[in-house]
Amino acid sequence: MPPAHTPSDDEPGRPVRSLHLNESPFGPSPAAVAAMREAVSLLNRYPDHDGSLLIGRLSTRSDVPAGRIVIGAGSNELLYASADVCLDAGHEAVAPVPGFPTYAKTIALRGATHVGVPVRADGTVDAEAMLAAITGRTRLVFAASPHNPTGGLLDAAGVEALARGVPDDVLLHFDEAYFEFGRHAGGPDALASLQARRGPWIITRSFSKAFGLAGARLGYGLCSDAGLADAYRRIRVNFSVNATALAGALAALGDHGHLEKILAHTAAERAVLSRGLASLGYAVLPSAANFVSAIVPDAAGDPVARLRAENVFIGGFAWIDGRKAVRITIGSREDTEAVLSLLGAAP
Ligand SMILES: *Cc1c(COP(=O)(O)O)cnc(C)c1O
Repeated sequence: MPPAHTPSDDEPGRPVRSLHLNESPFGPSPAAVAAMREAVSLLNRYPDHDGSLLIGRLSTRSDVPAGRIVIGAGSNELLYASADVCLDAGHEAVAPVPGFPTYAKTIALRGATHVGVPVRADGTVDAEAMLAAITGRTRLVFAASPHNPTGGLLDAAGVEALARGVPDDVLLHFDEAYFEFGRHAGGPDALASLQARRGPWIITRSFSKAFGLAGARLGYGLCSDAGLADAYRRIRVNFSVNATALAGALAALGDHGHLEKILAHTAAERAVLSRGLASLGYAVLPSAANFVSAIVPDAAGDPVARLRAENVFIGGFAWIDGRKAVRITIGSREDTEAVLSLLGAAP
């Protein structure tokens, strides 16, 4: 299944509201836009394949040596790379269910077996159950916090359980696509916990979500050691990260004000949307990300289809017990009001 895309055909009185891909409702930082404009005029040149400037900046911010940091065309490229680095036919990979679709896709492409582990009732990754699902054939474990599609935040004990419990010959891929939102919500420092792990690990983060650069395609990975980082570098497609993305990301990292504004808006609007959904009878999952997910009450019919007919796009997924659930990206105040009013109307 190809990724979803938002149609651009606004209709009078029915603007398209794209709330199904967890994009930022705001543009990228104006500083990032300016840097990308400038970079465009130099596109006759290949980009710096190593992304040295950006990696240097990420190293300073994370305290992880540059030799242990890798980049990719979106963190998606690094999720694929993890499967390439360690999976072959006959191997198993453990991943949460419901989970980010790329996990299952990359595992299947390697001919390995996807061992799905249901998330807990609060939508967080079930660390103990993930560890229990590991066998002698397991080579890779995907975990995410905040998790998608639930928004659930793993606490420090959960991260530490994974860091300690995943065997030393299994790669732990910790997906922090919503890192900035999770930290803003008071989430634990997963990097600190993983640093204490003996076996291999990678933390991936993205410029697509909090930094509002989804269209630019840029993600990065912090690795347990330089040898593992080299393994990712060896398989990376030449020049896969384009020059405009590199320039935009570097400028975006410097614009703290823009990021803070988005984080504050997201937290406030998330509370409004959560309360609104609860008052409509939806069972809302606690979220530390830029979206809210909720289990649909029986009488509500098919809200995803109903809203789509009104040009409002939200995500749908099956909850662990088979009930319908929706995932709604935090947008503008008007987006929240439009969603709540459409959901509140009789099906
Ligand atoms: C959005 C997302 C990503 C990655 O997105 P990129 O645009 O490829 O950086 C990775 N994992 C999860 C869970 C996501 O929601």
